[in-house]
Amino acid sequence: AGPGDTGLITVKGLHCIQSADVIVHDRLVNPELIAQAPDHCEIINVGKEYDHHPIPQAEINQILVRQAQAGKQVVRLKGGDPYVFGRGGEEAEVLVQHGIKFEIVPGISSAIGGLAYAGIPVTHRHYASGFHVVTGHTSQGNEQQNWQRLAQLEGTLIILMGMTRLAEICQQLVQYGKSPATPAAVIMHASHPKQESVTGTLETLALKAEERDLHAPALIVIGDVVNLATTLSFSPTWEKVS
Ligand code: SAH
Repeated sequence: AGPGDTGLITVKGLHCIQSADVIVHDRLVNPELIAQAPDHCEIINVGKEYDHHPIPQAEINQILVRQAQAGKQVVRLKGGDPYVFGRGGEEAEVLVQHGIKFEIVPGISSAIGGLAYAGIPVTHRHYASGFHVVTGHTSQGNEQQNWQRLAQLEGTLIILMGMTRLAEICQQLVQYGKSPATPAAVIMHASHPKQESVTGTLETLALKAEERDLHAPALIVIGDVVNLATTLSFSPTWEKVS
């Protein structure tokens, strides 16, 4: 579905929606895209709401398999790119196990495209010759993110799903050697009309984001490219999909 701005869906993604019998979608998907489905299309929301119990992954897998086995053209609609922290890979594996034919339609990930809408180029010849995208939230039982190693990296660091630990992440990166003056930003609802962002440094970002009440879904961006945010900010033209 892309990161938010409906115009950022791909031509292929839009055609899939327009020919779907069933759409199984997440919370992050812009409702204007779902509205493009044909009248007969069944819409199933498997999105995780705050304060509600998420639908277990096994149940989502079952829905996909059941609908496909009933002969339906099923669209699994996810925010951003389906293979960037979207469990798209896990779901596709289940389809393979059940012999269900599928196609992956890549999308514009918030982890790259979302930064642009806040005026931040993910790389820049003078400021960042590479970037890393990591999750701030590792699943239970898994190893924690290795902030010591991440603190040593050059280039732009982009953290998804990190907002509940923003203060801790900034503090750890400084503890392991990044300068407290390293530019950093939070972008909430990137590329959506309700986008809000704040820039600061590793030292000031957590407090600034809290003061502005910024929360998930949001991107944390760390690196010198953040300094371009004001210069390169722009007003998007919102494209109507049809
Ligand atoms: N597949 C998605 C990422 C899913 S993980 C993609 O490629 O963009 C969910 C996390 O992605 C959120 O917690 C948030 O950190 C980030 N995210 C997704 N869409 C976002 C948006 N429009 N603005 C800011 N962050 C977003």
